[in-house]
Amino acid sequence: MLESLHARLPGKVSERAADLEQHSADETAALRRPPAAVVFATDRHDVVTALAWSQETRTPVIPYGAGTSAEGHIVPLGGEIALDLSGMDRVLAVCPEDFLAVAQPGVTRTALNRAVAGEGLLFPVDPGADASIGGMAATNASGTTTVRYGGMRSNVLALEAVLPGGKVIRCGRGVRKTSSGYDLKDLFVGSAGTLAVFTELTVALHPQPAHVHAQRLVFGTVAGAVAAATAMMASALPVARLELVDTLSMRAVNRHLGTDYPESPALFVEMHCSSEAALDSEAEEVAALAWDSGVLKVASARTAADRAALWSARHQLFFAVKALYPERRYLITDTAVPLSQVAEMVRVTEKEADALGLDVVIAGHVADGNVHTIVPVAPEQADRAREFSDLLVEHALSVGGTATGEHGIGVAKKKYLRLEHGDAVDVMTAVKAAIDPLGLLNPGKILDLPR
Ligand SMILES: Cc1cc2nc3c(=O)[nH]c(=O)nc-3n(C[C@H](O)[C@H](O)[C@H](O)COP(=O)(O)OP(=O)(O)OC[C@H]3O[C@@H](n4cnc5c(N)ncnc54)[C@H](O)[C@@H]3O)c2cc1C
Repeated sequence: MLESLHARLPGKVSERAADLEQHSADETAALRRPPAAVVFATDRHDVVTALAWSQETRTPVIPYGAGTSAEGHIVPLGGEIALDLSGMDRVLAVCPEDFLAVAQPGVTRTALNRAVAGEGLLFPVDPGADASIGGMAATNASGTTTVRYGGMRSNVLALEAVLPGGKVIRCGRGVRKTSSGYDLKDLFVGSAGTLAVFTELTVALHPQPAHVHAQRLVFGTVAGAVAAATAMMASALPVARLELVDTLSMRAVNRHLGTDYPESPALFVEMHCSSEAALDSEAEEVAALAWDSGVLKVASARTAADRAALWSARHQLFFAVKALYPERRYLITDTAVPLSQVAEMVRVTEKEADALGLDVVIAGHVADGNVHTIVPVAPEQADRAREFSDLLVEHALSVGGTATGEHGIGVAKKKYLRLEHGDAVDVMTAVKAAIDPLGLLNPGKILDLPR
């Protein structure tokens, strides 16, 4: 059957072992299974052809961006082909006067930022990994800057989508608001490749901040750090990033990067200020708020190089933890709760980790109520790690939160979907069945179609 795919897309289909291996697991490698083949698309026609072939041969397809997702989204469950969009990597237009750019889905967030930097503009969504904008849209990614700029749903204005079978539609417009019709753009953003393949995205750009100030605040306890973060969110400070890291995080970072940060809970804070004078007074206000919550040390990072070092430490956290426990597998939790509940979420996390005897790294985009844990899991801890994840999700849901703030449901969190959404899952299933009745796009992810 794959011969007909080779014939339709000559030179673009690979069955090489190295290509199959590269498309068999995401960054966590918690699940691993190779696809039947990989299609390397370089334009919309390739995507249309692949999805038409998929429908004719009833072969499921998994769209693939940069492969950095964390919930098994891109892992084949059996018989799928991977549709790799990383070769669709052209920025098609930058429109400074409209503050938007049009790009193919394989453009990475750092490549997009390089393309718009000369215009004094910024594409702010920052999940840490150098993900593709197609994959970021498909997971509704967010990250360190979401508190100021929003996540992908706020920053993708329009998109071109290829539906199962190969029909091409456009959703959304290059405007900041529209009330026109059902919002298919926002339905597709976050659909994890289960409804459509994006072949073009129109994204919002923002002016680069002129005055940036970052601070590292060291605390004796995670609770103290969370209290300071809550106070900052209640203030009028222009917070652009506000990240929590715990003692184990800092230990892992020091070992991995050779740094000598204090091995205590910390907040990494960045503010985008309107003037040099505002920068000084606002940095002082941050320090004063932190002082009230028992800060032990305040360090400033004013130069671009100092800030890059600070944020590199945060972005390297997952890899640092992996290096600290090289022989273990990883469970990542990603609950988000209302801001008033962050301190309690952290308290419950520490309590359950302790009770279950697990080494747990706590970090998070606290300004968004998004509390991550990374759990390095030894083989004999597998059941306890699953119990830990269940307990955290149950607690988050009980206080009005969500099972996943940004990584998505994928395969790993499917069991939480009905717990969170109840009968609304039936509506989601009906939407999936209406758009993809044969279940050809990324099957078994988010939800299952009834047989
Ligand atoms: C160290 C680390 C830190 C992370 N931190 C964050 C974080 O702070 N915030 C956050 O949101 N995420 C985070 N992630 C997860 C990950 O970076 C995001 O989920 C990212 O958006 C995935 O993009 P990708 O290009 O790698 O997509 P992939 O992993 O390739 O794909 C992700 C999903 O999108 C679908 N897809 C890919 N391209 C398309 C397309 N063109 N059309 C339709 N569907 C498509 C795939 O089928 C899959 O379901 C982190 C991951 C790592 C490893």
